[in-house]
Amino acid sequence: MVSEKDTRGRGGLPGVLKGLATTARTALRPTHTAEYPDVAPELPPRSRGVIALLEENCTSCMLCARECPDWCIYIDSHKETIPASTPGGRERQRNVLDRFAIDFSLCMYCGICIEVCPFDALFWSPQFEYAEVDIRDLLHEKDRLGEWMRTVPPPPALDEKAAEPAEVAAANRPARGTGLVAGGGAARPPRTVRPRVVREELE
Ligand code: SF4
Ligand code: SF4
Repeated sequence: MVSEKDTRGRGGLPGVLKGLATTARTALRPTHTAEYPDVAPELPPRSRGVIALLEENCTSCMLCARECPDWCIYIDSHKETIPASTPGGRERQRNVLDRFAIDFSLCMYCGICIEVCPFDALFWSPQFEYAEVDIRDLLHEKDRLGEWMRTVPPPPALDEKAAEPAEVAAANRPARGTGLVAGGGAARPPRTVRPRVVREELE
């Protein structure tokens, strides 16, 4: 029971009614919390959940591993010789990726590796449900990093008023020597030939 002294100290009956009104008002407002894991949260498409690897694009250049502030990217590769495609041609060499692993127990999700990759081999996925009981299982090898690619959202559409991408502009440039515009465009006008001045005309 609330004593007279108590009600006086807290503002009396009007104070109690005010508190009840606040409680009633708050109870009727829509909630902003989601009952995870029963209800999946709606995450922004650029959320930093996990890093996915597109192995086909990786050239083992090591740039991401060198720039990672936590040193939690491990890459092993070897060189492979590709025979010449034409007789008398030169052999070529290419890197073959043997191991690509990220230790997510050390990663601080800064995104530097994704930013510096010159070949678009790393992507953010909003997937975050990969907690482990054993911390050692947070070391994801390249097969597991590759599986995350399925959860990477598509890139946003280009702005309608944005400049034409350099690749598209290069593809639309006239092909050399043909005088034709790539993609079935109109033929180039012929070059102007300067008329020869005959010596007799000058004399
Ligand atoms: S997000 Fe940052 S810390 Fe994590 S692997 Fe990439 S560079 Fe390293
Ligand atoms: S992921 Fe990118 S930066 Fe890292 S080794 Fe492969 S190509 Fe180089």
